Amino acid sequence: MKPPPLRYVRPASLDDAVRVLADAGDDAKVLAGGQSLVPMLNLRLARTSVLVDVTRIADLTAIGAAQGGVEIGASVRQHAAATTPLVRERVPLVARAIAHIGHPQIRTRGTVGGSIAHADPAAELAAVALALEARLRVASVRGARELDAREFFAGPYMTALEADEILVSAAFPSVAGARTALLETAHRSGDFALAGVAVSLELDGEIVRAARVAGFGVGPTPVRVEAAERALAGQRLSAEVCREAAEAAADSVEPFDGPHASASYRRRLFGVLVDRALREAR
Ligand SMILES: Cc1cc2nc3c(=O)[nH]c(=O)nc-3n(C[C@H](O)[C@H](O)[C@H](O)COP(=O)(O)OP(=O)(O)OC[C@H]3O[C@@H](n4cnc5c(N)ncnc54)[C@H](O)[C@@H]3O)c2cc1C
Repeated sequence: MKPPPLRYVRPASLDDAVRVLADAGDDAKVLAGGQSLVPMLNLRLARTSVLVDVTRIADLTAIGAAQGGVEIGASVRQHAAATTPLVRERVPLVARAIAHIGHPQIRTRGTVGGSIAHADPAAELAAVALALEARLRVASVRGARELDAREFFAGPYMTALEADEILVSAAFPSVAGARTALLETAHRSGDFALAGVAVSLELDGEIVRAARVAGFGVGPTPVRVEAAERALAGQRLSAEVCREAAEAAADSVEPFDGPHASASYRRRLFGVLVDRALREAR
């Protein structure tokens, strides 16, 4: 199946792109790598009469140092981000997450911003945005605004983006000395995760000064797992504390029953992954 006829536009600048979106009202969609949107249009799970291709806009394709971390343009391809030395050095969790996305062909076309804006509950990059407290820059004809990743994910495949807004970039902070880990389990390599976790820990010696734990595949959106973070804060990162935090994490998420795994299996799996990720970060 193919979508009904639609207009394809490829603006050269961010100003042109936001103007096209504003003129089209609710009837336009941003096209990035097309790895999620095109199949949805073909299957008629999504509809639009204007496709606004943002992959050639220079403002959206840069990677640069920002506030000790890295700002990645929304249209940067996932493979390009994962292989950029600045990203690998300053925010290795981003590169690690991308290695789990689909297959090489998907990562070559798919973009960092597309993955975040698509807001799949099992998206690795969305969880990393939460775990690293990424700042998301957004633009429209009404101006620019910046959102915290925690206010961005509103529901399954739903975000705080208005219909006329474009995600411009994601700025991932880097905390010197932070220990990070990302683990997931999927039926096959390249499949979406049944459950996964991204962890960032700041330690004073063996004591946890700050913990950020984000789960994916275990609820309607990627989530910050505050129960686990509370169980870790101020504690010596012993095996027992890791286990207690993992139990708190498993108890606090709201996984769903699905064709690939039951909710109870995902919950149990999540606890195991959190425990392992914490011990790995340690
Ligand atoms: C077989 C397969 C396996 C996959 N496995 C995984 C996986 O394991 N983990 C994972 O996370 N993903 C997976 N994906 C999805 C992949 O990561 C996509 O690349 C990603 O979801 C969307 O990125 P894209 O650039 O292709 O965006 P598109 O498909 O072009 O767009 C996706 C959505 O985001 C919106 N959008 C895109 N860019 C912007 C922007 N700059 N501003 C505002 N809105 C925007 C679009 O309008 C659309 O609604 C898989 C895909 C396939 C086909």
